[in-house]
Amino acid sequence: MDLGIAGKTALVCASSKGLGLGCAEALAEAGVNLIMNARSAGPLDQAAEDLRNRFDVDVTTVAVDITSEDGRDKVLQAAGSVDILVNNAGGPPPGLWSDWDRDDFIKALDANMLTPIALMKAVLPAMMDQGWGRVVNITSQSVKAPVPVLGLSNSARAGLTGYVAGTARQVAEKGVTINNLLPGIHATDRADALDKGVADAQGISMDQARQQRFATIPAHRYGTRQEFGAACAFLCSQHAGFIVAQNILLDGGAVNATL
Ligand code: NAP
Repeated sequence: MDLGIAGKTALVCASSKGLGLGCAEALAEAGVNLIMNARSAGPLDQAAEDLRNRFDVDVTTVAVDITSEDGRDKVLQAAGSVDILVNNAGGPPPGLWSDWDRDDFIKALDANMLTPIALMKAVLPAMMDQGWGRVVNITSQSVKAPVPVLGLSNSARAGLTGYVAGTARQVAEKGVTINNLLPGIHATDRADALDKGVADAQGISMDQARQQRFATIPAHRYGTRQEFGAACAFLCSQHAGFIVAQNILLDGGAVNATL
């Protein structure tokens, strides 16, 4: 399927690895020029070079922390006017409900709620002026089914979800769509880190930890970044203009709910 977005420009945050890279890859395959971001320059430049070589698109890299105001300013300055924004950043650490104080919440809210909101506020006016734009926020399965140890993430992402629910309906008439993609477990460094935590805590191998988690997923495997990226690219395509304010789970059936 031709996604109809060749030649457009996308800012994909936190995209040197994992789900962000999956989105950047799928957009590049559709002919979209990219601004890619991550904190470490090495892996970011390597990923960018790979996409340039494979898909013959322009790729600009900005190695900064997207959750800092200074980082966002640098990214937005390098990006200029964008047609597509994919919001992403690392997730907050796990813990127990009683562990977290105000500073922990402020940090999580800054990273996973206020950063995507600030970036949307920065790019939406130009998208609305030109009558076309796409925003995809990478959130989490935990928006629909809380993961108790991820209370900081549950809280911040719920806040972002509420903001998107209203805002998406205010900008849709200008041809701009905002949607959220909710990953269940995908095979990325983050999943490896979670499995290592379980393996260490239970004194089992990484493979045993993985098999335990597979058993909780009807598809009996983890998602891939390529599958995730394909869903993102479709939401950014010409064909997805009537998909507004949705929260789309990619979880292999892990959330056990009818709707
Ligand atoms: P990942 O494999 O660890 O990749 C994270 C990417 O984001 C890397 O490119 C990293 O590069 C970049 N990054 C992290 N923090 C950043 C920051 N502050 N500023 C700029 N770049 C940053 O993670 P992932 O699995 O793709 O997860 C992406 C998001 O989805 C996270 O919020 C995660 O909580 C959420 N999620 C993931 C899963 C899953 O199974 N993978 C499930 C549910 C939710 P640098 O380290 O160089 O900055």
